[in-house]
Amino acid sequence: MQLADVIQLSKVNADFAVPFNHRPIGERMLVTNDLGDHLFLTADEFRRFAYGQAAPGDDLYERLVAKNLVAAAIDVKSQAERWKKKKQYLFYGPTLHAFVLTHRCNHGCQYCHSSIVGMDRMDTDMSIETAERAVDLAFQSTSPGITIEFQGGEPLANWEVLQHVVEYARQKNQLAGKALSFSLVTNLSLMDDDKLDYLIDRKVQMCTSLDGPADLHNKVRIYKEGNSHELVIGWMKKINQRYVDMGLDPNLYRVEALPTVTKLALDRWQDIVDQYVDLNCRAVFLRKLDPFGFAARSYKTLGYTMDEFLTFYGHAVDYILDLNKKGVQVMERHAAIMMSKILADAEPNYLDLRTPGGACIGQIGYAPDGGVYSSDEGRMVGSMGDEMFRIGSVNDTYHQLMTNVHTRAIVTSGLNDGQPGCVTCVYKPWCGQQVEYNYKTQGSLHGRMGDSVWCKRHKYVFDYLMRRLERADEQELKIFERWTTNRMLEHFLQDRGA
Ligand code: SF4
Repeated sequence: MQLADVIQLSKVNADFAVPFNHRPIGERMLVTNDLGDHLFLTADEFRRFAYGQAAPGDDLYERLVAKNLVAAAIDVKSQAERWKKKKQYLFYGPTLHAFVLTHRCNHGCQYCHSSIVGMDRMDTDMSIETAERAVDLAFQSTSPGITIEFQGGEPLANWEVLQHVVEYARQKNQLAGKALSFSLVTNLSLMDDDKLDYLIDRKVQMCTSLDGPADLHNKVRIYKEGNSHELVIGWMKKINQRYVDMGLDPNLYRVEALPTVTKLALDRWQDIVDQYVDLNCRAVFLRKLDPFGFAARSYKTLGYTMDEFLTFYGHAVDYILDLNKKGVQVMERHAAIMMSKILADAEPNYLDLRTPGGACIGQIGYAPDGGVYSSDEGRMVGSMGDEMFRIGSVNDTYHQLMTNVHTRAIVTSGLNDGQPGCVTCVYKPWCGQQVEYNYKTQGSLHGRMGDSVWCKRHKYVFDYLMRRLERADEQELKIFERWTTNRMLEHFLQDRGA
């Protein structure tokens, strides 16, 4: 259905509707407003809507009013409250604080960043002094909750500093009283029973990488001292069992694992999903190789086009939905985040899908040398010798970091309303920007959405989900609604002090 086939612009009644965007989906026209409401209209309904020919009492009018699409019928006060609630993240500072504890790693993953160094390079570790300054800064965030995420390299390689950060932050929180949590991104190969006891005792959430079955995983995630896949699976099972033994709900509490999709995985969607289902994982987050961690030298063997990835993604989500129809509870995480926004009117504060984006005001990255960056991605750009996203150092004050010209430029560039392609896009209310991605792929913080692979990926996934929703039967709708259920992992919150 093309717009010109449906309406004559001269007949449009511009006063009738609120500002809206539209896009043909299946046999109908998808219409959205800036508040995040959506409606599918037939050609005739869309014509009557655009011409302002729906009147109180008729079915179309009531459906339009229910979705806040009729200007005269908008309850401004309640919609302002709704907007404020969804934009809560703008009322406080960064929540996520990514601590890169070291550049050392014992794996040699083929897609990994070139700044990763061998295990003997202890000079790339974050020191205790730098870590304490970074914790001090994190606690100055005006956010009521902060998450300290341990990254690397392999963060378990700098175990002493990791423990120190946990203890120091817990101690500070006795006064600060924030919703404090810790998460650890690890390849699990340096895990042992003592470390696990400590991490469980201190309620540190764990997240690892699992690229699929053994042959796929081990081919890319190269570990000379053992079998990486076997280690990951073994520790995942052990940790999950510890949560069960503690009486925690196994549907909620488990090691999060993430696959990175390489060229070798493009026809293996079923194997990857099956691997996650075998481990009782409730979610698979199908991540494309990104332009930050990916060493250019590996492109020939591991790289692919966005179209190839999207074909893979479509097959994988089709398969996941088929499994759900057979009673297997598993979701694709990116689709689930989008569905939470579309169907549940939620704002999960997923930093890549918010406007302005998460850089600086949603997350901050701390490098081992004390450099402070817009995000972990910004820090990776820095590791490649480009300090575009360095907003200061741990020796600066929070005020300096949050108000300097770099931060202001980065934040204002990440607005969908400042993007020519986005302002007229039907997916604008749910989409977002990552300025580091724009910069790395297009050489500009703003990017150009017309030929951006970031935009292409998001538009494809939104289109995919909307086509599904447009013709969804009751069973499929129930599956998608289940994917929108987000429960807080209260166990991982630290004591707030007296
Ligand atoms: S990035 Fe692309 S899909 Fe997202 S709002 Fe902008 S134009 Fe739409």
